[in-house]
Amino acid sequence: MAVDATQPYDDQNIFAKILRGEIPNRTVFEDEWALAFHDINPQAPIHILVIPKGAYVSWDDFSAKGSEAEIAGFIRAVGHVAREQGLVAPGYRLLANAGINSHQEVPHLHVHLFGGKALGPMLM
Ligand code: 5GP
Repeated sequence: MAVDATQPYDDQNIFAKILRGEIPNRTVFEDEWALAFHDINPQAPIHILVIPKGAYVSWDDFSAKGSEAEIAGFIRAVGHVAREQGLVAPGYRLLANAGINSHQEVPHLHVHLFGGKALGPMLM
């Protein structure tokens, strides 16, 4: 079900549980600001989710309330993971769903990192 990104942060969401180590995940990167792990239902040969460690529902929430250090740390982490996965030369796609019209399902900000094949044009 799509989430309303204007709702308060729910610390029982699945990614909050992953951050607390309550649910297993296939981590590819972690630092002070971000955790990156394989999507459980990959839509491309490489499909990684990068999430900030802070409690933010969506991109809107994060960009409005995140500190400069959190925002910089998170964006650097996304770039780091793409480089580490060898995706810079072949190319990759970043996507962040925010709210009902985008069909965001998990109410903790996440950026999807897709790669490992020619992804084709962006379709709505
Ligand atoms: P959204 O639609 O919110 O942008 O994407 C949520 C993503 O989270 C989906 O691609 C879905 O497969 C992934 N996902 C949902 N639950 C889990 C989980 O428990 N573990 C992992 N690794 N991914 C999950």
